[in-house]
Amino acid sequence: KEELNIIQGALELRTKTVEDVLTPLSDCYMLSSDAVLDFCTMSDVMQSGFTRIPVYQNEKSNIVNILFVKDLAFVDPDDCTPLKTITQFYKHPVHCVFNDTKLDVMLEEFKRGKSHLAVVQRVNSEGEGDPFYEVMGIVTLEDIIEEIIKSE
Ligand code: ATP
Ligand code: ATP
Repeated sequence: KEELNIIQGALELRTKTVEDVLTPLSDCYMLSSDAVLDFCTMSDVMQSGFTRIPVYQNEKSNIVNILFVKDLAFVDPDDCTPLKTITQFYKHPVHCVFNDTKLDVMLEEFKRGKSHLAVVQRVNSEGEGDPFYEVMGIVTLEDIIEEIIKSE
């Protein structure tokens, strides 16, 4: 029954982690902080269909900002505005969480906070050198809701 699936999904929020439901970094639609908001870039953003777009500096694992598509409302593509101008104006905080964060905790954070997207990181201590933080991907409120209502 569908109700049972939903109840089961809700119960599993306590055991599943953001790592289980995240969108891996390699699948994320992102922009480089050096991007210029010309017609080409802006139509690419629109065509991506995403509402929140991580902005990285130099490498994709270094997420420095989040662009909201609604931030582009007053941007004229003919002005070729640097993306930095927009991100420095809005300054949406980048919300980071660890990979072992349970989904019920994440859901509460999303309900409390303003943003519905978080960057998932883990401590990588596999190599020879010192452990370091490694970005794994992103998780949104949608990913958690999907976990609740999925029917198998
Ligand atoms: P909204 O529904 O609030 O307009 P959205 O459609 O951009 O936002 P979500 O509904 O939050 O995105 O998420 C839908 C799925 O897309 C989730 O699996 C999420 O992890 C993924 N996702 C969200 N943003 C991106 C992005 N920039 N690149 C790749 N995947 C993303
Ligand atoms: P998003 O979070 O995806 O950017 P949003 O902040 O515009 O979207 P929601 O988060 O979907 O809106 O909804 C937040 C609350 O605001 C909900 O209670 C919703 O019913 C209400 N709401 C959404 N759009 C409007 C609107 N145009 N006028 C009044 N209330 C709205």
